[in-house]
Amino acid sequence: MYNPKSLKAEEFIDHEEVLASIEYGEKYKNNVEVIDEIIEKAKLRKGLNHREASVLLACEIPEKINEVYELAEQIKKDFYGNRIVLFAPLYLSNYCVNGCVYCPYHRQNKHITRKKLSQEDIAREVIALQDMGHKRIAIESGEDPVMNPIEYILESIKTIYSIKHKNGSIRRVNVNIAATTVENYRKLKEAGIGTYVLFQETYNKESYEKLHPTGPKHDYAYHTEAMDRAMQGGIDDVGLGVLFGLESYKYEFAALLMHAEHLEAVYGVGPHTISVPRIKPADDIDPNAFDNAISDDIFEKICACIRVAVPYTGMIISTRESKAVREKVLRLGVSQISGGSRTSVGGYCEPEPEDENSAQFEVSDRRTLDEVVRWLMENGYIPSFCTACYREGRTGDRFMRLCKNGQIQNCCHPNALMTLQEYLEDYASPETKEIGETLINREINNIPKEKVRRIVKENLVNIKNGQRDFRL
Ligand code: SF4
Ligand code: SF4
Repeated sequence: MYNPKSLKAEEFIDHEEVLASIEYGEKYKNNVEVIDEIIEKAKLRKGLNHREASVLLACEIPEKINEVYELAEQIKKDFYGNRIVLFAPLYLSNYCVNGCVYCPYHRQNKHITRKKLSQEDIAREVIALQDMGHKRIAIESGEDPVMNPIEYILESIKTIYSIKHKNGSIRRVNVNIAATTVENYRKLKEAGIGTYVLFQETYNKESYEKLHPTGPKHDYAYHTEAMDRAMQGGIDDVGLGVLFGLESYKYEFAALLMHAEHLEAVYGVGPHTISVPRIKPADDIDPNAFDNAISDDIFEKICACIRVAVPYTGMIISTRESKAVREKVLRLGVSQISGGSRTSVGGYCEPEPEDENSAQFEVSDRRTLDEVVRWLMENGYIPSFCTACYREGRTGDRFMRLCKNGQIQNCCHPNALMTLQEYLEDYASPETKEIGETLINREINNIPKEKVRRIVKENLVNIKNGQRDFRL
């Protein structure tokens, strides 16, 4: 029985309700009156429920799809302006006891090189990331209670925060590790993590169990209820995501929104971010073996529909996507992207020799961070290295309140300009720096409050004179 307030996975992601939502979408997908009503509701910028959003996703009327895209673009502008936050993944270990059939780290894969970074290795990787200009990273690790216990993850976080190389520092560590206990989530919170991210992979229990035949991840309920335990452990910023391509995208979409509604109903805080990865080629993995692979057009439609359904939730894409796809979805709602990523363990210090392979998936976007920053600016975006909120205690419902009433913009925009200025001073190529200086000079006039504008101008001068880490 569907119950968004239940703490049981099979009740807040009730299979029958997901199917009923898909059916609802199919029933009204060509009904202009119903679609118009839903679009009008979405224009209020308070979001849509999973059934309403399923109608927009199913809609096949080109003019109405265009309207949804235009609204997604407008909501993106209203909530996120033209800023894009940058981050990089850091792979700590690819030892894993699970048997996920779509991931090359699965235990049975004997031809992948298994690696685990020591604390010295991590320090070297962090210096390499800092030398690129990164301030925000997401650590990733396979699940292995012996090789990667929670103590290893906690020690790694400590190491990452402790490294200060030249003007560099990692100011926010997001964590993407396997579902764990309330106790361990509490420890992660105490270690000062930003967002806890866990991809559901698929919400369909039957498919989930087939795709995760062995290992602790096989337990659908334990995995699906992980965000509840994270919240109970005090982590109030959590990131959802599904791996599109494993199941029918309409199923995943409806269930993903049900998960967001569940968190909102029980904890009063929806997800901080939603990631939209798609299955990609990797060692031992052929995406064509999965018959639910989605086209670029459908992928864009999913991004636009998520944007209008949960306007206040950040949306993330990774280097799995090509430059062309990234260009499109940035407009439609994505607010965070990775740049200059390496998806192999230790890949920032040493590119892998040809006969070795420890990457989780193939990267489609191989540009350097400097190239990504320049490309963003050339496309009218402000690349942002901001990490201010969690450091200022703006997390959970406090953050969501500011987000929902739009006040967060008063922090995001100035912080983007100040962190970009730091990047330009310390890491940018001359060409990128020139474009960036022009952009900052132009954008500074768009800060509405005079007092804030004055403070930011002063800080920009201070940054040029060598001071760092200003934030609102
Ligand atoms: S997806 Fe995660 S849990 Fe599954 S095999 Fe890969 S690293 Fe392990
Ligand atoms: S001010 Fe907060 S919400 Fe805005 S970019 Fe910075 S960390 Fe993100």
